[in-house]
Amino acid sequence: MIQEIFPGVYVAEIETEMVGVRHLNYSFLRGAVGERSVLIDCGFPEKADPSCGTALREVMRTLGFRPDGLDVLITHGHKDHLGQARALAAEGARIFVNPEDMDQSAILNTLLMDEAGRRQLFRLVGLETYDRETYEAFWQAADCFSEGYEGVWDFPYLPIRPGDCRQVGDYRLEVTALPGHTRGELGFFARAQKFIFSGDHILEEVAPIVSNIGEFPNALSSYIASLGEAAARFSDYLFVPGHGAPFRNPRTAVEKTIRYYHRHCENLYHIVRAAEEPLLLRDIGAMAYRRYQRPLTEKEREVCIQIWFKTYACLKYLEEQGALREEIKEGASYWQSLQ
Ligand SMILES: [Zn+2]
Repeated sequence: MIQEIFPGVYVAEIETEMVGVRHLNYSFLRGAVGERSVLIDCGFPEKADPSCGTALREVMRTLGFRPDGLDVLITHGHKDHLGQARALAAEGARIFVNPEDMDQSAILNTLLMDEAGRRQLFRLVGLETYDRETYEAFWQAADCFSEGYEGVWDFPYLPIRPGDCRQVGDYRLEVTALPGHTRGELGFFARAQKFIFSGDHILEEVAPIVSNIGEFPNALSSYIASLGEAAARFSDYLFVPGHGAPFRNPRTAVEKTIRYYHRHCENLYHIVRAAEEPLLLRDIGAMAYRRYQRPLTEKEREVCIQIWFKTYACLKYLEEQGALREEIKEGASYWQSLQ
């Protein structure tokens, strides 16, 4: 379904075959004659989700865009937003990304694809205290998590940063920082017409995942702060998110997301507080999601990997608030209550 939300501004919502991400948006702004046009984000890679690739080509054909006439602006470095960048670049598109999100350590997925990075993550979570068989089962789950994404982050790109701006047709697109979901997430907004492409910063249907990895220790507090700022600054804008229909009144979704994280943090706090000894990150995650005392399926192990890092972001937030304390022992993260 293609919607023209402003003259020459199109949002195509397409369905994916991926679990957990049912649909995503391809948004286009048509350039003036002789100018390049703009595509915001480019879905999963074709190898992981062929229908995503086919849909992009179909939408481009319908609207009359060709890769060599496109500048692709990426909101953030996740695989469902830059998946087809490499293929489009090979056909003459120019790709613009915030270099912060292309850093090897910035994105959970790229970190898991790197063997040394994965080993270090597993140690931090406390997986090395499992038996060998369980450890290897998680290693395999990380392989599955990464399958189909080899080389996805490997493409030529031009840097784009908060404060940059560019003219596309009648629209002057400005770039703003929306940190939290990733460290370098960007929003692209038109001040005169009041719309913003907001990536996964604010979603109406789910609370976007915040994961604390690499050099982003204060992920959740940055996220909560930037949600509040975005809701105030763009309060009367039309939001075009990475997933779901365009919406207004960002405050409702922002409040829902902040409430979700506060509740989640409170739950984690009680789990750690009730324990008689310091808890490993993996155990806190498992208890919070009640995925603990039973054999896990392979898919559940993949989900676990994401749970750990959301859990870690929340625990780090509680540490910032002075409620919990982390102790690293032999590379593993242990948590205890301060009271
Ligand atoms: Zn996304």
